[in-house]
Amino acid sequence: MKKNYTDWLFLGTLLFFGLSFVNILFSWLGLICMITPFIMAYKTGKKPWCTSYCPRSSLFTKALGKISLGKQPPKGLLTKETGKFVIQLFCVNLMLATMSTFMVASGRIPVMDYPRFLMMFPIQVDFPQLISIAAPGFLIHASYRIFSIMMTSTIIGLILGILYRPRAWCAICPIQTLTTPIKLSA
Ligand code: SF4
Repeated sequence: MKKNYTDWLFLGTLLFFGLSFVNILFSWLGLICMITPFIMAYKTGKKPWCTSYCPRSSLFTKALGKISLGKQPPKGLLTKETGKFVIQLFCVNLMLATMSTFMVASGRIPVMDYPRFLMMFPIQVDFPQLISIAAPGFLIHASYRIFSIMMTSTIIGLILGILYRPRAWCAICPIQTLTTPIKLSA
């Protein structure tokens, strides 16, 4: 079967994590996945990111298509209400990341140079860094916070995808929920 570009989008997600291990500053590339969907939704009144460009959903489809257990999700798990709760978590996470970055920049707290899962669980392993790049501490700190957001949502998405359906995460993904009003009002 002839392949088109959508078959390779998952490489974007792998590239993101791979480059973050080369140097954590590359995790700023994750902002592309956080900002572009909103620009596209605003310009088109649709959600082309979700339907055609998202590298994360491409990874879920590609990696889990054949192994997803296809179970019935518990009642209420993949609903709008859960989506709203996930948005609240996402906003709190963004706010804490921004505030802590300012505090690092002002010298009030040290750089947190490790990722956290779900904001609360530090992963204090030796994070592989193949090359070192001199950068201010607050940039390093913010890089790990961006990486943490991307890592957390990808891990949760993979777990949901294995249990229920490959793109189960999309039902409660903050990007999907937050771009819907833009789509409706455009
Ligand atoms: S809902 Fe989220 S994970 Fe799914 S396609 Fe849209 S942005 Fe990607």
